[in-house]
Amino acid sequence: MTDLKKVAVITGCGNGIGLACARRFHERGYAIGGIDLKVPAEAAEVIEQSGGIFFEEDVSRFQRAREIVQDIARRLKRIDVLVPCAGISVDNPIDRLSEEDWDKVVDVDLKGTFNYISAAAAVFREQKSGKIVTIASTAALRARRSLSNYIAAKAGVIGLTRSAARDLGRYNVNVNAVAPGLVLTRLTEKIPEEIKAKLREETCLGRLAAPEDVAHVVYFLCTDEARHITGEVVRVDGGQLA
Ligand code: NAD
Repeated sequence: MTDLKKVAVITGCGNGIGLACARRFHERGYAIGGIDLKVPAEAAEVIEQSGGIFFEEDVSRFQRAREIVQDIARRLKRIDVLVPCAGISVDNPIDRLSEEDWDKVVDVDLKGTFNYISAAAAVFREQKSGKIVTIASTAALRARRSLSNYIAAKAGVIGLTRSAARDLGRYNVNVNAVAPGLVLTRLTEKIPEEIKAKLREETCLGRLAAPEDVAHVVYFLCTDEARHITGEVVRVDGGQLA
């Protein structure tokens, strides 16, 4: 087993933070098991170069998550890391949020995270090792307007992370969350410049994050140096909530 490449399973690997994580783990010698609705050529290249495989699939499908994770474990022989990163947002004030938009965001951001943690847990339990880093948000720690579905889902991700840390610690599995502030990705490109400027001012460092800023912390949480950290939420927000 020691001769084999380590394997990182990353959902939402096609863009933004997930793609930055795929790059980071590939640079550090991991093979990537990637999942995204659509895997663009840029992401496919990173995954193929890593010796990994990818699946174009919706993370909200419970049974498919099991099958995909089992398939990755069988073909790449092991799974060391899970980063369930796929996420969406559909913003509206709570009195105007449709049932459909509530369900959509909770299904992808919360249930999608659960689906992959639950599927990977079966592999980690057998291996007696594993690292999971979920992607929460500072919005779950200090609410913002018009994000009730997203905030509820991300607060759920934090609860899920802590409970998984309790359930899986006995199998030598660390489960942590990162809570990014605003990161410049496709998800946030439609946010008006004046709001971005305001958010930038709220940070201690006077800047917004690049996807790589988050990926570095995700990677660190999966190293041996971080082996005594579990059930934790690490803000990566330039001090926005300091
Ligand atoms: P992004 O839009 O750049 O990337 C998200 C990826 O997830 C996309 O490739 C998309 O295709 C994929 N995806 C969406 N729905 C999916 C589904 N049902 N099944 C499979 N894949 C799906 O966004 P990002 O900013 O990189 O976001 C990544 C994660 O980080 C999300 O969970 C997001 O909530 C979280 N986050 C982002 C920010 C930010 O400011 N960008 C801040 C805090 C947390």
